Amino acid sequence: MDNTATSDNTATSDNTATSDNTATFVIVGGGLAGARAAEGIREEGFSGRVVLVAGEDEFPYIRPPLSKEYLGGTAERDSIFVHPAEWYSEQNVDVLRGRTASALSTETHEVTLDNGEVLHYDKLLLATGAGSRRFPGPGVDLPGVYHLRTVGESESLHEALKAGGKKVVIVGAGWIGLEVASAARQYGNEVTVLGRETVPLNVAVGDEVGSVFGELHRQNGVTLRMETGVKEIVGVASGVTGVLLDGDHDDSPSDTGPDAGEIVPADVVVVGIGAIPNVGLAKDAGLNVDNGIVVDASFRTSNPDVYAVGDVASVFHPVLGHHLRIEHWGNAEKAGVAAGRSMAGSDVEYDEIPYFYTDQFDLGMEYSGYGELAKDADVVFRGDRDKREFIAFWVADRRVVAGMNVNVWDVNETVQNLIRSRVSVDPAALADESNSLEALITTQPEPA
Ligand SMILES: Cc1cc2nc3c(=O)[nH]c(=O)nc-3n(C[C@H](O)[C@H](O)[C@H](O)COP(=O)(O)OP(=O)(O)OC[C@H]3O[C@@H](n4cnc5c(N)ncnc54)[C@H](O)[C@@H]3O)c2cc1C
Repeated sequence: MDNTATSDNTATSDNTATSDNTATFVIVGGGLAGARAAEGIREEGFSGRVVLVAGEDEFPYIRPPLSKEYLGGTAERDSIFVHPAEWYSEQNVDVLRGRTASALSTETHEVTLDNGEVLHYDKLLLATGAGSRRFPGPGVDLPGVYHLRTVGESESLHEALKAGGKKVVIVGAGWIGLEVASAARQYGNEVTVLGRETVPLNVAVGDEVGSVFGELHRQNGVTLRMETGVKEIVGVASGVTGVLLDGDHDDSPSDTGPDAGEIVPADVVVVGIGAIPNVGLAKDAGLNVDNGIVVDASFRTSNPDVYAVGDVASVFHPVLGHHLRIEHWGNAEKAGVAAGRSMAGSDVEYDEIPYFYTDQFDLGMEYSGYGELAKDADVVFRGDRDKREFIAFWVADRRVVAGMNVNVWDVNETVQNLIRSRVSVDPAALADESNSLEALITTQPEPA
């Protein structure tokens, strides 16, 4: 599928900052959002110094392939980088690889690095992303237990999985857990996924659509155990041997949950239980932090010279009328550019519809929409659910608030237009494939 996103955003320039070639912009965090911000800064014409404190030893790279094609061994390492290495020298962006920012003073406009070096900034962008939520119980440090955030972790996991024939237990039935299950299974491993919820992905997409993913995994030989918590990861000094479930002593036939003391044997355990935003620097510097670094729709924090973007930022969304922190590639990709342009003096009001995608076994999908509005919405299917070729629409008050195209391509832009249009739709007309989606949008939008 084509994952190319455009860098358009609502922006007009007043060029206040762009002409100052003596100013220094510092970006902390060399993920996708940081790299795209550097691009936005230069696109907007800022000619001063740009320093990107990368954090990791690598040039900025994208993470989605780490649980999909790179983990699965079908993508080359070169393909994961946001820009080729030369791009940074061509654009005069100093990338400090392997350096992290350890302190920030908004009073002196200084960032202190882990090697003691102090960087002065005129404007600063915090794009520090998020880190894996680690398994909170005993056994988390045993050899053979993996979390997945960095390219190094993906490479270690690839080594552990690639020969096949292992017992792989995945803790967490969210996006990363299911993607790893798919890769692990395709190497010929025996895979069990443990999830607390009733249906995989139900927090993200609800029961009906989550069930489609559940069925996909079962049909591909994954053992799914839902409503199953984990107490402990168990093993010996040389490595993990299993996962102790959070069971009970209920022997009644209606109790399908784990029994007390039940251990699922494992050679490899992968923990995919979410991510935590890296807000430490911002918090210590006294910036407003509340489930992420709080910024306005132009990515400005509570300090006028400090901006934040990507997984770490809780951004005011003008359509929703409140702040939203999004942990998705599409957000880092587009908002990163927009934040860079905002720093460089462009008048930005970021109002993109959240977007993400996944690839698991033979299922590829794209989702656009407002997850929180979708929670209480009705799901309307268009297409063939059994063949896993359909579009699911979440409809609230006859308006489409989210849409997911599964193995149906070149429609996501139309789905976004449908959401943006706020037209009143007839669910039956939406479900009927003989009606063009474009035609449904031509109806006049109702007042907000
Ligand atoms: C395995 C995996 C698969 C994913 N798959 C998908 C997918 O299929 N679809 C999708 O939409 N999204 C996916 N995502 C989410 C997506 O990758 C993130 O939303 C995106 O990476 C966010 O980019 P970011 O730049 O904000 O943060 P990050 O990518 O986390 O980058 C932040 C960088 O900042 C660095 N850093 C942190 N603190 C400091 C500091 N103090 N000093 C210097 N540097 C620092 C970190 O080391 C890191 O390199 C996936 C994520 C993972 C981990």
